[in-house]
Amino acid sequence: MNNVSVMISDVIKSVLKGVDPPVPLHEPSFIGREWQLVKDCLDSGYVSSVGQYVDRFEHELAAYLGAEHVVAVVNGTAALHISLLLAGVMPGDEVIVPTLSFVATANAVSYCGAIPHFSDSERHTLGMDAVKLGQYFAAILQQDGDRWLNRNTGRRVAAIVPMHTFGHPVDMDALNEVAGQYGLPVIEDAAESLGSRYKDRMAGTLSSLAAISFNGNKTITTGGGGAIVIRDKALASRAKHLTTTAKMPHQWQIKHDEIGFNYRMPNLNAALGCAQLEQLPRFIKQKRELAEQYQQAFQDVDGVEFFHEPNFAQSNYWLNALLIDEATYDRNELLAQLNAEGIMARPAWALLHSSPMYQHCPRMDLSMAQDLERRLINIPSSPFLVEGNKDA
Ligand SMILES: *Cc1c(COP(=O)(O)O)cnc(C)c1O
Repeated sequence: MNNVSVMISDVIKSVLKGVDPPVPLHEPSFIGREWQLVKDCLDSGYVSSVGQYVDRFEHELAAYLGAEHVVAVVNGTAALHISLLLAGVMPGDEVIVPTLSFVATANAVSYCGAIPHFSDSERHTLGMDAVKLGQYFAAILQQDGDRWLNRNTGRRVAAIVPMHTFGHPVDMDALNEVAGQYGLPVIEDAAESLGSRYKDRMAGTLSSLAAISFNGNKTITTGGGGAIVIRDKALASRAKHLTTTAKMPHQWQIKHDEIGFNYRMPNLNAALGCAQLEQLPRFIKQKRELAEQYQQAFQDVDGVEFFHEPNFAQSNYWLNALLIDEATYDRNELLAQLNAEGIMARPAWALLHSSPMYQHCPRMDLSMAQDLERRLINIPSSPFLVEGNKDA
């Protein structure tokens, strides 16, 4: 096994030639106007809850996405939390989330007092399997007035949260159709997929509510940060209100009309975000070039598949992924070897339904996600790794 593993690291190195180890999985780059805009923000004195950069960031992001409304918040998890509240998720409800996801997808459901209900993945997108979900709903959902209950638990199923895994768009048309049959709101967890396209539309605009993340390891960063993308105007003002402590607008009076959240993105982070947004088209171009080079380098390598974007999508390739044939390679040995050589690589997240806090939650058959989790590894994906752009 060792000999074949050596070969995989050689293939990766042939793509990363000229880059000195250690090579991280995903590093931010600040090669545009980041210093300038952050300095301008500091000079203005408005670094937190007041200032022009938050509005500017929201407008520029909305324009980039072709979205109606964007509300900037402190992180992607907060964006998911508020989106679920806006979709009407109540304590005691169940919300369908993929088991193959970052823990935030399920945690946001828990913050609403609701229960994550785990769904399986589809082989060609890594995301929620619409066909399987449709069959599952037909078997377990029971109508109760205008609500649909899980007949096994008696609880209302209130929403579905598909996630675009590693930036690759899930089949949203198929999922929207399944959700539509039961009148369920769809919230896109687009945390990883800023700049990815599904058919001719941007990830984050494919349902009425979406959450994006600008954490330091995502495609662009605000340090920490997130955004809610919203179609409906009234819901967008409600999102603004809820994320700014539900303070009633008034020149001097400080009065709140419900329990809100201090989730607003600080102006300082938004300044960084404005500069990063200017770099986004270039980052995506570079990341897609890097993926293309990995794809070519791995095409004749037996026992490993470079995960390619679904045919209806143009992915941002946030994190490149390999699928390992277990008969040929030992995944953990391979990971140990890559990391020992300074090539940062890691497995996918441990499946959410197997973590202690979620192991008793309802779930469907999860065999595809289980297979993917055993075989998938992520490899270095920073935009500047692409050949010819290293000194840019
Ligand atoms: C990063 C991420 C989030 C949460 O974003 P934070 O900004 O870190 O809170 C949510 N869901 C997925 C799938 C993510 O990858």
